[in-house]
Amino acid sequence: MSDADNPTDDASDEFEPIQVFPEAEEMDLRPGADNCYKCSTCDTNCPVAEVDDEFPGPKFQGPEQWRLKRQDDHDIDESVMKCSNCMRCDSACPSSVPLSQMHNTARGEYVENHMSKFSREYVRNRILANYRRLAPLAATFPRTANFVMGLSITRWLGEKTLGITSEREFPAFATETFRDWWRKRGGAKVQNEDQKIAYFHGCYSNYNTPEVAKALVRVYEHFGYEVLVPPQSCSGTPMFANGMLEDARRAAETNVRELAAALEDGADVIASCSSCSMSIRQEYPELFDFEDTEDVAANTWDALEYLRVHEDLEGELEGASVEGFDDFAYHAPCHARNQGLDGQTVELLDVIDGVDAHDVGDSCSGISGTYGWKAENYETSMKIGEEMFDHMDTADAETGLTECPTCSMQMEHGTGYEIRHPLEVLEAALFSDRPETA
Ligand code: SF4
Ligand code: SF4
Repeated sequence: MSDADNPTDDASDEFEPIQVFPEAEEMDLRPGADNCYKCSTCDTNCPVAEVDDEFPGPKFQGPEQWRLKRQDDHDIDESVMKCSNCMRCDSACPSSVPLSQMHNTARGEYVENHMSKFSREYVRNRILANYRRLAPLAATFPRTANFVMGLSITRWLGEKTLGITSEREFPAFATETFRDWWRKRGGAKVQNEDQKIAYFHGCYSNYNTPEVAKALVRVYEHFGYEVLVPPQSCSGTPMFANGMLEDARRAAETNVRELAAALEDGADVIASCSSCSMSIRQEYPELFDFEDTEDVAANTWDALEYLRVHEDLEGELEGASVEGFDDFAYHAPCHARNQGLDGQTVELLDVIDGVDAHDVGDSCSGISGTYGWKAENYETSMKIGEEMFDHMDTADAETGLTECPTCSMQMEHGTGYEIRHPLEVLEAALFSDRPETA
């Protein structure tokens, strides 16, 4: 995790802090830029730079741009829009340069000052970044939405008018959202003043894969937790990646306020999507200073990580078996790696009788949220994903597994595998003898 609050001794007084957002008046990225000693480790870990010769890489996007900027008020280079926000450079840097904070800030400044608000790129990016605003409409008429989005003419139009690639199939909307299911169920089945979690389900588990969110509820209730489902907005991940920082600020403000209230109520925050937890834990504190931002970040966990730390999860799974699953090809999303979570799923599944989970390596899936949905990035996205596709093909497994919704789209698109979330396997193992329907 990068550390923007780590000033070096040589941060001279003669420079004015670069202030990008009015609410972040204390943001000063000079110390981070001065920490860079140009080792290029970030560049060699960048999946976009590896396959796209025109992308200058994270060292340029981060410390070099900030140095140039303070010397001669240099404009942010448009190539920052080619960064997929995978954040691999961030964890690769041996000198704690706050690369993703620099990239997010630079992208926000580029979009604000240099991108026409009437351009096709801006409109397309705004739509992709604000999936949360469009999804409720589609979820009201999911069958119609799925039919229309499944038509090849819709995909063709999407590419011609907006520049959304026609190569990918739009993900289907569930016929019942997670939140509707939760309401009909009557909320939590377990009340426990001493063990509560606030579930941050994010957009995709609500609108597209409610089975993942339901699995989380059942697994946590199995361990005696009271589950709260607070009001929430998008985590902001697609907004950061598209430089829509005002949108991200609004979403983050809602989330921090609601999650802080849940903390006050005695809950810890749990996310099932690795990009959502990454956003809350790292990007919010790096970019925003709402009251309780740090507190919410410090008390947010990945779903499996929390159970491994607080419960005897391995012990509970010993001797368990799962119906309907066999061998898995597991891909650790870049945002899970950045949180140090890449090994936990395979270790955990290995405990289950008859299950073999193959880690398909540490390459990036290539889709990186909205990046691979842009027509101009599609080929690059698939080139980045090749290594993962090859490893999945040779893994001799039947099902793909990952914690990230867009990685799962790329895995399915590149291999034809059915893709599931580790929580679904956990649920199947814990309830193998008594499947629950409510
Ligand atoms: S890895 Fe860190 S120190 Fe090395 S070039 Fe990149 S930003 Fe600079
Ligand atoms: S976030 Fe990913 S794509 Fe962007 S510069 Fe860093 S490694 Fe490259």
